[in-house]
Amino acid sequence: MPKRGHLIIVSGPSGAGKSTIVRAILEKRPRLRYSVSYTTRPPRANEQDGVDYHFISEFAFRKKIDADELAEWAEVHGHLYGTSATSIEETVSDGQDVLLDIDIEGEKRLSARYPEAVSVFVMPPNMKELEKRLVGRGTDSAVTVGRRLKNAKAEIAQAHHYDHCIVNDVLAQTVSSLEAIIEKAFLNG
Ligand code: ADP
Ligand code: 5GP
Repeated sequence: MPKRGHLIIVSGPSGAGKSTIVRAILEKRPRLRYSVSYTTRPPRANEQDGVDYHFISEFAFRKKIDADELAEWAEVHGHLYGTSATSIEETVSDGQDVLLDIDIEGEKRLSARYPEAVSVFVMPPNMKELEKRLVGRGTDSAVTVGRRLKNAKAEIAQAHHYDHCIVNDVLAQTVSSLEAIIEKAFLNG
């Protein structure tokens, strides 16, 4: 039986740079598996179904909840997001390491299920820069940006629950910090 894979959970306010960091890490570590979540959020122009998310209806999402198919799920910024229980379990049982980008509630539930998971909170350098990034991304309406900024303060207040907290100022440095965290987690078993 192969050694079980590790779980690395990344969370942080919208616009902090999680997707950008995840993309960079996956390029550097092609053997790391990204957990593609289910969501009821409509896809952004640059997003691909099955790659960024599995985009499904609320009806289909609720069916998954009822069938107990999700390892965790949460309502975030007005939409539903969740992680496939079988996909995670099959991947780690197969000895592969999994990277997840999920919110704070999801992290709590998944860490309860997988206590050995390593959690990393991605912090923006400051609120002004967070707003600049959310607006600059150009994927969301002003209402959506406003809602996400409003939620950011409560999210940041939860950062101390995480095993690690990294400030995403200079991207290359953030990616190196996350790589170091991953290396250490893997070395420790
Ligand atoms: P999240 O996944 O946390 O919502 P994104 O990865 O979509 O955030 O990043 C939000 C925006 O900020 C994107 O336009 C991205 O290119 C930009 N960004 C990410 N990291 C940095 C950084 N270190 N410095 C400047 N801009 C960044
Ligand atoms: P976005 O809409 O910007 O892609 O993501 C919004 C939020 O949902 C982010 O905080 C992201 O981490 C979170 N998220 C994405 N997938 C999941 C998931 O499967 N479960 C939970 N709980 N949160 C998720």
